[in-house]
Amino acid sequence: MRFAQKFLIANLLLAALIAGVEKAPAQGAVADPLRAWKGGNDPAQLETWVNQRLAAEKAALDKLLAASGPRTVANTLRPFDDAENELAIAGNNAGMLFSVGDTAPLRDKAQAMVAVVSTAQTELSLNQKVYQALAAIPPPAHDPATKHYLERTLLEYRLSGVDKDDATRAQIRALQDKITALVLTFNRDVSDGVLKFTATKDELEGLPADFLAKHPPAADGTYTLTTEQPEVEPVLAFAKSADLRKQMYLTYNRRAYPANVQVLKDLLAARQQLATTLGYPHFADLATADQMIGTAANMSALLDQVDAASRDAANREFAELLKFAQEQQPGLTALSEADRNYWSEQYRRARFSFDAQSVRPYFPYEQVQAGILKTAARLFHLEFKPVLDAQVWDKAVSTFDVFDAAQPGKRPLIGRIYLDMHPRDGKDKWFSSSPVVPGIKGRQIPEGMLTCNFAGGVAGDPGLLQFDDVVTFFHEFGHLMHHILGSQGEWSGAGGFNVEGDFVESPSQMLEEMFHDPAILASFGKHYQTGETIPASLIAKMNRASAFGRGSWLQRQLVYSSFSLQVHDQDPSALDFDALWKADRTRYSPYAPLDDNRFYASFTHLTGYASNYYTYVLDKVIALDFFAQFDKKNLLDGPTAMRYRRTVLEPGGGKPAADLVKDFLGRPQGFEAIKNWMNEEFQTEPTASK
Ligand SMILES: [Zn+2]
Repeated sequence: MRFAQKFLIANLLLAALIAGVEKAPAQGAVADPLRAWKGGNDPAQLETWVNQRLAAEKAALDKLLAASGPRTVANTLRPFDDAENELAIAGNNAGMLFSVGDTAPLRDKAQAMVAVVSTAQTELSLNQKVYQALAAIPPPAHDPATKHYLERTLLEYRLSGVDKDDATRAQIRALQDKITALVLTFNRDVSDGVLKFTATKDELEGLPADFLAKHPPAADGTYTLTTEQPEVEPVLAFAKSADLRKQMYLTYNRRAYPANVQVLKDLLAARQQLATTLGYPHFADLATADQMIGTAANMSALLDQVDAASRDAANREFAELLKFAQEQQPGLTALSEADRNYWSEQYRRARFSFDAQSVRPYFPYEQVQAGILKTAARLFHLEFKPVLDAQVWDKAVSTFDVFDAAQPGKRPLIGRIYLDMHPRDGKDKWFSSSPVVPGIKGRQIPEGMLTCNFAGGVAGDPGLLQFDDVVTFFHEFGHLMHHILGSQGEWSGAGGFNVEGDFVESPSQMLEEMFHDPAILASFGKHYQTGETIPASLIAKMNRASAFGRGSWLQRQLVYSSFSLQVHDQDPSALDFDALWKADRTRYSPYAPLDDNRFYASFTHLTGYASNYYTYVLDKVIALDFFAQFDKKNLLDGPTAMRYRRTVLEPGGGKPAADLVKDFLGRPQGFEAIKNWMNEEFQTEPTASK
């Protein structure tokens, strides 16, 4: 106790020292060891800064290796975590400046620095001496979070093959290089693979005017269409011609075929070899060894359970859609997979008369941001205070300090968040949440950021958001809260983002469900001109429209999940992609499969997620079970939110995700909630005008 207090005081002094450094005026050199952007837009400064972090990493590793006497948490895990911390800070800062840096030379340098940090990370993950030192630490039984962090670190080391002999490690490295090259080729074939075909004027019936305006006829009266994304979706959703939809569907799914068939075969063979070299029977077992699901057999069982939970709902939705299509088009006998988007769109329009544009006036950007901060503050017992004089990388960024409002009589600072929310030249086009500074108890307060591209942010534009944008905002904000609340522990490498990869989306997906609640939406959804609160009837209509198709959506996820697993859990040399792909669609999808569908040749999740597409399904199951524990009449203010914060978010990566789930639910995740979700509101007749 006394030691802890002393330690705390020393750390407070250190924190004050760091804070002092932060406030010192910039004198050419980059003074802030946590925030690279304070060095300005000079690429050379960034490089110097990253090299300082790498030097600090090396110093920590030297200290680790030089320690004498028995290996302990203090003399080995602590300097290891210090080294990881420097790499994380360097990687996070380089990554964020690559995404949001203000000049092209800065972004280019940042990209190069991301690669440098990544190389250092790989070197550390293959460092045998460091591994042996960590493995010699007696497991700290009295400290479960530290024990878990150590065990996970050792597992990751073993999965990278660090404990193998020199020849085997050389072979692993060669296989990994080969896999990286094949992944790049596969993805490049997909992004470069644009195909063209022609359509007649009649076939374009039903397509929106702006689409037609961009497609003038050629001299012979035909129209050229391509498989670029902005053309595919409108054709599949709006073209009345079933032939045109089919042609687009098949052409789109053929854009990397046959080139990628061999690439995929080689990739799967290399992965299989890597798995057996590391002692696993196949790649799916290797890829799940450090995940919540644990094994390929567990994954397979999960897919069966989700199938059992969703099959009836999917069949019922399909029957309703087919009936509707037959009413519209007498004589129609079946729907193929190329018809799915078109008839779903027609059905939604006819059945729910919900127009996504109609809610936008209630969601101007500034109001949404204030509403999301307020909602999160109430839910998680936090306070967000704007920091008006923070030195940031662009004047459009807003900064908030996060205070813990759950402790009576105290309101400690627990984090800082940066919101970079609107597009600008050179900034990346995605929506993401990322850690900037990891947290270390008593020493380093976590910081994180959102990088988004929402409307608004310029004078005169209210930035009216689509409802999907509002949900995306809250989803990404949820990751940020997981980072802040989950990074208050002892270890930089065990923060909120360090939970197993197949759990990390669950908390944010849970939050998405909150935004169907009329009371929450009404608390900030006000018409940007009249101030009128968003009508409850409009919310109900929107919710009903979004609830239709959930069963079919899950079944489609099972098609992808199952295929991803099956190409990774057996000898790849014997695989027949066409037969397998058709069998999975026949098993899970009521839509008639088309023979020439070569989707697998452009299924880029096979490169990024390999066997682990199931994570979407697992996280949905968990998210809905979490959400089901909240009192629907009092989502924000009941005791459940605080219990959720304590049991799921605050432990960060300091516990296995399966324990986080059990601690909150009192049991492992189940399937009741996802079943109820699929049946939600769907059977309710839309209320007439109210
Ligand atoms: Zn997410």
